[in-house]
Amino acid sequence: MASGRHCSLCYNFCETKIELHHIKQKKDGGEGSFDNCLPLCFGCHADVMQYNPDHPKGKKYTVTELKRYRNKWYKKSAKVKGIYYLMKAI
Ligand SMILES: [Zn+2]
Repeated sequence: MASGRHCSLCYNFCETKIELHHIKQKKDGGEGSFDNCLPLCFGCHADVMQYNPDHPKGKKYTVTELKRYRNKWYKKSAKVKGIYYLMKAI
């Protein structure tokens, strides 16, 4: 998993307690693709899903923000994995 089983927003290690959020919801035509996927812990998934424009609470993330957070974590995670595999090879 590209996230290393970490949440893409709070970066906590989730082990198996991780959910895959559709950045663009299925009901809005969002695909089940890698680009539309955002690995999240249960708490952050609730935060992302609970925003209600009629009663503003929770966090209103834009698609761009969500992808920026995720990509930043994927890059960091790939770097850590690279170091891990390098160390393992020595
Ligand atoms: Zn989280």
